[in-house]
Amino acid sequence: MTITTKDLQRLFVLIAEAIAKKRDHLCELDGAIGDGDHGLAMDAGCQAAAKAVGELDPAQTAPTAVFNVAAKAFLNAVGASSGPLYATAFMRAGAAAKDKQALTDDDFLRAFAAMAQGIQERGKAELGEKTMFDAWRPSADAAQDSWRSGTPLAACFDAALQAAHEGCEATSGMTAGKGRASRLGHRVIGHIDPGAASAVIIIAAISKFAQQ
Ligand code: ADP
Ligand code: MG
Ligand code: MG
Repeated sequence: MTITTKDLQRLFVLIAEAIAKKRDHLCELDGAIGDGDHGLAMDAGCQAAAKAVGELDPAQTAPTAVFNVAAKAFLNAVGASSGPLYATAFMRAGAAAKDKQALTDDDFLRAFAAMAQGIQERGKAELGEKTMFDAWRPSADAAQDSWRSGTPLAACFDAALQAAHEGCEATSGMTAGKGRASRLGHRVIGHIDPGAASAVIIIAAISKFAQQ
């Protein structure tokens, strides 16, 4: 498919709606091993991003600018760790979309992979440190592996979602190497990471978008 600025505006609405529905649940997850604000932070960030992106004139705005505007709005709206992490992710997606008037499936997958890369570089988390990266990295890898073996875009995102879900579930057995939960040692075992849980929600919205 060809993904235009208009499509990306719709994508940011899908993400914001999905996060809004799970806002309280994400706060509960963060309440168990953090400071309880993750749902509020992600909801504020995603609403701000969707609103800012929605105000752009699609006839005048290239995909790269959509991601950059989303990054800025997200960062400005969020005072928690997730702010700079997702702002960087969206910036990197914007860089991957640079100079394109519309995105091909290949461009869109590159933008998705760039989000995981941005989170990695910004947060410096390794796999197994009980963060959103434990959902993002396997998800981006699954999407890319599927794409390279000739799988259609929608099915690549089925694989990406499945991998994100498994990565998120696996955080339950981990102690944390980054973020607030890293101060709590073994007490955090048995709880999934809130950032990994919100990553699954975002990736599910992206997957839904890719099915259309
Ligand atoms: P805060 O801890 O500042 O309140 P949030 O509640 O919004 O921030 O986000 C917490 C989530 O951020 C964690 O569950 C974890 O997934 C993620 N996180 C924290 N630090 C890092 C990091 N260095 N790299 C990747 N993800 C991180
Ligand atoms: Mg928090
Ligand atoms: Mg906080």
